[in-house]
Amino acid sequence: EMLSAQKHEIEKSNEILKAKQKEIEDKAAQIKLETQYKSEFLANMSHELRTPLNSLLLLANMLAENEEKNLTPDQIESASSIYRSGQNLLHLINNILDISKIEAKKIDINISECSLNEIASHFKSEFTHMADAKGISFNVITGDNLPDFITTDIYRLEQIVRNLIGNAIKFTDSGSVTLSFKNAGSQKISISVADTGIGIPPDKINTVFEAFKQVDGSIRRKHDGTGLGLSISKELANLLGGKISVQSEPEKGSTFTLTIPVHLKSVKRYGSSDGKRDAADDKSNSAVKSTVSDNNLNPVKSKSELSFPNNIETPNDESTLSQADEDLKTMLIIEDDPEFANILSNFFKKHGYRTVVAPTGEDGIKYVTDTKPAAIILDIALPGIDGWAVMHELKSNPETRHIPVHIMSGHDYSLKGLEKGAVGYLTKPVSISDLEKALQKIEIVLSSDVKHLLVVEDNSDLQLTILKLIGTNDIIVTAAITGEEAISLLKERHFYCMILDLGLP
Ligand code: ADP
Repeated sequence: EMLSAQKHEIEKSNEILKAKQKEIEDKAAQIKLETQYKSEFLANMSHELRTPLNSLLLLANMLAENEEKNLTPDQIESASSIYRSGQNLLHLINNILDISKIEAKKIDINISECSLNEIASHFKSEFTHMADAKGISFNVITGDNLPDFITTDIYRLEQIVRNLIGNAIKFTDSGSVTLSFKNAGSQKISISVADTGIGIPPDKINTVFEAFKQVDGSIRRKHDGTGLGLSISKELANLLGGKISVQSEPEKGSTFTLTIPVHLKSVKRYGSSDGKRDAADDKSNSAVKSTVSDNNLNPVKSKSELSFPNNIETPNDESTLSQADEDLKTMLIIEDDPEFANILSNFFKKHGYRTVVAPTGEDGIKYVTDTKPAAIILDIALPGIDGWAVMHELKSNPETRHIPVHIMSGHDYSLKGLEKGAVGYLTKPVSISDLEKALQKIEIVLSSDVKHLLVVEDNSDLQLTILKLIGTNDIIVTAAITGEEAISLLKERHFYCMILDLGLP
């Protein structure tokens, strides 16, 4: 009887425990949802704040430049002051957005290899002026036994160090700011920023990494700032597998030291972005990366020593170009089937082009740099990297993304092709009349001296600003307010480029 009474007791406690656990789980889910709403709200708000700021900054800047020479010095100063305040506001909004992303664990880390020397000289040139302007010296010291390269997220690393140097210069009125790189042992490096400035009182030193905490938080304080920089930096340092420490003495100065691993290997994946898409992106990125490094191994050849691939017969089968050829526009044909490449070559030659054939995507990308083609014919199924990777590479490089690409492929992926920015898509087999149509599409893009630009923007102030900024003799701007209007205009006419607002009614 006693045993069964005990058992009953235990069962009752268990029930209560279960109920409590359920309650805690519900609370946790609720908190998670609230955090998500909060960060969504912040992201939306930042976006909404940025839209009006965009016009404000552009116009204030235009006024401050006083192009029409009709403003008084006072008015110019006012316009400059609006511009500077707007910049500060933008900085604050960006910081808030960063903080909310960090809180919601939605920051992505992009690891790449970077040269320490390059990073060091980059900071030297970025901050020397700022230090000069305050009459202090800015030194960069690189220690012994440093690795040539580190693997990390360079963008985030620079964000942290930039913030440390900015603070150091801000809080130092005389003396120097020194940025040093040291080998910290056990596969780590330390990057420290030392100043001879006002320093931090011992009782405040632990709070400076907290959001919105400033040693002097009073309204009459001498230095501006948001108090967010260090808390963002601390979290970012965490993401890079490292940490930031600080040593400081009032009136003597402070030293902030960031210690990070030389090679950041794997990163916890933050956020809810779906894994599948990331994997696909990684694949195409790595394909592209390998080409780029191949490219780097072969320094760009001068025009006179351009050679054509010798495993394929090219129409200009000589290795140097005659003067007449130099004047012609170049059509680059990236196609592994020699027969079809030859047909294409002859066709475009007949229509007044110089042609260059690349049998692989890797060669194609290389020849784009070497020969600066006017347009490109691209096959999709290629040995090595495929046409999509070539397309991705071309469109992500500002030097090459304007070159019209016409795809000719055995598979019908026309929608994807057009989405990726091709001017046209032909499915093999193609007829001569198909080729003529392709040529026509390419020539429309090449021949238009007057470029038509479509601006899709519902905010009328911003729209006016853009029209004012961009409308010149050789660019004709058409404006649309809704997505529907934009689509019907796009169906009607060809535009060279479109500026598209994402948030439309
Ligand atoms: P902000 O500089 O925008 O105020 P931070 O988070 O970067 O925000 O810094 C927080 C506070 O830490 C600063 O307001 C300042 O009081 C203190 N601080 C940071 N760096 C230094 C420095 N190099 N010297 C003295 N005080 C500093």
